[in-house]
Formats: sequence, structure tokens, C-alpha cells
Amino acid sequence: MIKFLDLLGINQQHKEELKEAFERVLDSGWYIMGKELKQFEANFAKYCNVKHAIGVANGLDALILIIRAYKEMGIFRDGDEVLVPSNTYIASILAISANNLVPVLVEPNIETYNIDPSLIESKISDKTKAILPVHLYGQLCDMESISIIANKYGLKVIEDCAQAHGAKRWDKQAGSFGDAAGFSFYPGKNLGALGDAGMITTNDDELAATLRALLNYGSHIKYENKYKGINSRLDELQAALLDVKLKNLNAETAARRIVANRYLSEVVNPKIVLPNVIDQNAHVWHLFVVRTNDREHLQKYLADNKIQTVIHYPIPPHKQEAYKELKHLSLPISEKIHGEVLSLPISPVMSKEEVSTVVRVLNDY
Ligand SMILES: *Cc1c(COP(=O)(O)O)cnc(C)c1O
Repeated sequence: MIKFLDLLGINQQHKEELKEAFERVLDSGWYIMGKELKQFEANFAKYCNVKHAIGVANGLDALILIIRAYKEMGIFRDGDEVLVPSNTYIASILAISANNLVPVLVEPNIETYNIDPSLIESKISDKTKAILPVHLYGQLCDMESISIIANKYGLKVIEDCAQAHGAKRWDKQAGSFGDAAGFSFYPGKNLGALGDAGMITTNDDELAATLRALLNYGSHIKYENKYKGINSRLDELQAALLDVKLKNLNAETAARRIVANRYLSEVVNPKIVLPNVIDQNAHVWHLFVVRTNDREHLQKYLADNKIQTVIHYPIPPHKQEAYKELKHLSLPISEKIHGEVLSLPISPVMSKEEVSTVVRVLNDY
């Protein structure tokens, strides 16, 4: 069986270093808000080339807290609108509605699967306060066009970087294009913890200070609470493990690119639509997503040939029961994408032989 994602294989590459980090944390007797978190935050801030990196409990909390902080700062209010791609993972949208703001869905570009900047302006109203671009599948959005629109209308830009750790364009890293960004270190992400974890990046000092209080019960000074905050801390153990894996992230991205480039050049079946790459550095291949008219048939054929695939994502957010209020929307591009996408196996530990097998089986389809 060729696994969709060999998580065990990925983490076993770093087994000795991860065990050392675990032992260091165990023996320190200090498990929350200590020097491991400080170190990892400093290293991640440097990696993204931003002033602040703030550890949180998971990627959803990262996005929820950014929006919450802008509310506490008086920049967003209940009922304000946030533009978000209609084909994203549900978490991007949950972060908006969790704060009593309104998600306004914008269709993606069919070539990149990312929010289509040419459709953004027509969705802007006097309630619009932010754009939440999602670098879906690991490819950066057209941040240049998005920034121009955001500046013109005075909107905040909040990047969802959950799938794009290390993606780069014009020497700028994912997480440094917007006013703030949320990262997820869910185990299956390109930089994955051995559990849940997340991070916020920003260059804004006031936002950073607000976030640091909000994630810790709203407390800015011990036992003094400025806000009605939450507990969303990134613990010492996950921070220590993630710091080990951060050192290897660029090498793992390079390994993903080798797999992706082989699929791109060797899969030549006209029934299969391959992804478009805007710029090699701007794509970190969290997922390698193809499209086909008869997806269920292709998925079964691959399974019969012992190749595991996953659908990201089968149901568009506006068709989810949780978002009944959006179900009247007509979003034909999203609906087409959700009906046709299939994610092929990809990981930094996939062998040459495994890639060759996937290519051969796809070309025989
Ligand atoms: C994974 C993911 C999230 C949420 O991250 P968690 O750490 O699982 O909460 C948010 N947005 C996108 C696009 C994701 O892929």
C-alpha cells in the first residue's frame, strides 16, 4: 500500500532528536510558558522574517485570536464582514463566525484554487474589514493584488498559512505578507507537532501584546485580567519537538518538490488535470491535488492498485449543515472543484519507486 501520508516515517527520521527534546522537557520540571516556547517562537519568527511569533494551542485558535484581538483593539465589531475563499477548509470560516463576524465567500481561481483577486472588489461593502486569504494546498495566493485592494479600502489582511509553512515569493515568506497570519502544526501539516499546536505571526506590536494576553485568560500581568480571554497556550513539549522539526523543514520541502515535479512532468494522462505552479518557491506542496471528471472512479481504481488518496474537500463550506445561512449561494467554481479534486500521495519520505508506481498507474488509467 502506498500511503497518502506516511506520518510515522516522517517523524521517525528525527527520532533521536525528538527523544532528546522530550527528555529535556521532562527533566526540566517546567511544562508551560518556558524557555522551549521562547526558543521556538524566536526561531519561527526568524524563519518567517517577522517581528513576533506567538505560540497558540492550534491553527483554528490562531485565526480566532487574531480576529478577537482586532475586536478588543476596536478595529473590528460584531457584524463586520471578512472576505474568505469559498473553497477553503472550514476552519478559516469558523474563525470568522466564532467572533460574530460575517464570512463573505469569494470564489477561487480555477487555475490556482486560491481566492480570485479579480472577484474581491465586487464583494466589498461598508461593513468589510478584512480579507482572509488561504494559501491552499501550499501555494501562495496572489498577495500583491490582494495587498493593493486591501490598501485601497483600508482592510486588514489575515493570512491562513496552515498549509503553507515556508512558501516564498520575492524573498518574502508566508506569514509575512499580511497584517497577521495563523499557522497550524496539526500532525499532518508540513511542519507538524506530535499533537495540536499553532502559531500567530505579525509585525504589529500592539496586536502582539493583545494576543499574548488573550491566549492566557486575557491576563497582561499575572493575576490581572484586561480581557475575557481564553487558554490557548502552546506547551513546552510541543514547542521543543517542533523546534527540532523546524530545522529540517526546508529539506523536507525540497523533498516534497522533487515528488511534485516528477508528477508534473511524468503524469501525461489527459483525463487528469494537474495543478498549476505560479513560482517554484511559492509552492510547498502540502497537498498534490489533481482534478478529474469521474473522481470516485479514479479513487477506486487507485485504491485497487494499492494507492491511497484523500479528497480535500468533499463538501464546500456553503453546503455544510453548520452554515445553513450560506446554502442559497451559487458558487459554481467551488462546487466544480469540490466535485473533482483528489489528493495524491506526497510526503518528504516517499520513495522514488513509490512515485514511479503512482505515475505508472495514473498513466495506465
Ligand atoms: C488545518 C487547517 C486549519 C486549522 O488548523 P488546526 O491546527 O487543525 O486547528 C485552518 N486552516 C486551514 C486552511 C487548514 O488546513
